Amino acid sequence: MYIAADDTDSSTWMCTTFLATELVRALPDLDLIGLPRLVRLNPAVPWKTRGNGAICIRVGEGAGHPRWMGRMDGRDLFCYARSKSEPSASEVLDRCVPVMERWSQTDDADPGLVVTPRPPSPELYRRAVSRIIDKEEALAALREVGALTYEINSGRGLIGAASAAAWRPMDRTYEVLTYRRRERWGLPREVSERDIAQLDQRFPSTFNNYEHIACRPAIVPHTTCPVLYGVRGDSPLQLIAAQASIGSEEVDRWMMFITNQGTDDHIIADWTDLAPNSSYDVEGEVLAPPRTIPGGHVIVALGTSAGPLDGAAYEPSKGFRDIVRELRPGDRVRVMGELRESPRTLNIEKLEVKALAPSAVKVSNPRCPQCGRRMRSAGRGAGYRCRECGTKAPSAVFRPEDRRLVPGWYEPPVCARRHISKPLKRMGIQSTIVV
Ligand SMILES: [Zn+2]
Repeated sequence: MYIAADDTDSSTWMCTTFLATELVRALPDLDLIGLPRLVRLNPAVPWKTRGNGAICIRVGEGAGHPRWMGRMDGRDLFCYARSKSEPSASEVLDRCVPVMERWSQTDDADPGLVVTPRPPSPELYRRAVSRIIDKEEALAALREVGALTYEINSGRGLIGAASAAAWRPMDRTYEVLTYRRRERWGLPREVSERDIAQLDQRFPSTFNNYEHIACRPAIVPHTTCPVLYGVRGDSPLQLIAAQASIGSEEVDRWMMFITNQGTDDHIIADWTDLAPNSSYDVEGEVLAPPRTIPGGHVIVALGTSAGPLDGAAYEPSKGFRDIVRELRPGDRVRVMGELRESPRTLNIEKLEVKALAPSAVKVSNPRCPQCGRRMRSAGRGAGYRCRECGTKAPSAVFRPEDRRLVPGWYEPPVCARRHISKPLKRMGIQSTIVV
């Protein structure tokens, strides 16, 4: 039986993953089948809460080898590969509703809870991770599999809950999430920054841990939610070891999730037109020198098969903007990012410089071939002219520009990345360094 929930948290309180631990806790007579899922949906949805993440757990009567995946109330948690029997959907719903009501932010959230014996069509997930879908589409997919639902307020969370249950992990990663003791919620977090800084070295399959340039940990949230920190990576066993290596205040509980974080599942590669509030993989040619606009954002005009398009590196992407500023007209690039509605820009999440165009910088006005004097501009696009003898010359004196940029992949620093964006590390690519 699948139990899925979404939109239970607000920007200031709670966390849907904590609700997942409370659901597990409320069903001690049932076994977890597979790992709990943390499913990030379209990050371009305008009304998302913090990370637009929904959760789904599957419960039943475990068969096969138990797999260690958490600890809560002084006991280890395990999950199983498959289930021997199915609990009653209506009983499971009745037991989960009070848990969701207790741990939801009902003032400014729209929680949705789904209990279903069969997952909805994977097409629902594919659409919800990359497009904007409405509640009716989710409800139709839920009806097809005979799901039971419960909602609070507008129940918009049913969209995410249904989509999380619909996810069939293809590319996937894992996250170990740790939670704080109740009396510590809202207080400053005590986690060893030194231990976090060493994760990349000690546990190479983990990612998005630490901002090595700004010397900042990226795995500790800054909100008042119950999460202490979360470590992401490709190996569940390494994540358990990584978590044990981090010195911190007392961990009240921890749980391993299987997730679509770091997969680029949100990117639409086979697009025919570019609609806003989705993310795309686009190739193009730089049309004009990049410009910095108020707020420190860097804009680069691209010519693409869909017409001209402004790529944007926003201020929070910090040093990544310096790379975008190095682009020159004629450079061929591939960009992945979210197309915003207004201003209509493609927010660059990853950049591949495919080829550099020859670029030249002006050295001086030309010298007159007749009298040797320095020539003056004859007006915009009209070349140069000697004021003494009237001789004309077509262009100024240029020298080839010494480009700092080299072809290769570039990505924003850890703190500016989307949860769902695939880090270059997971693509087996070393981020290119600008010299
Ligand atoms: Zn002259």
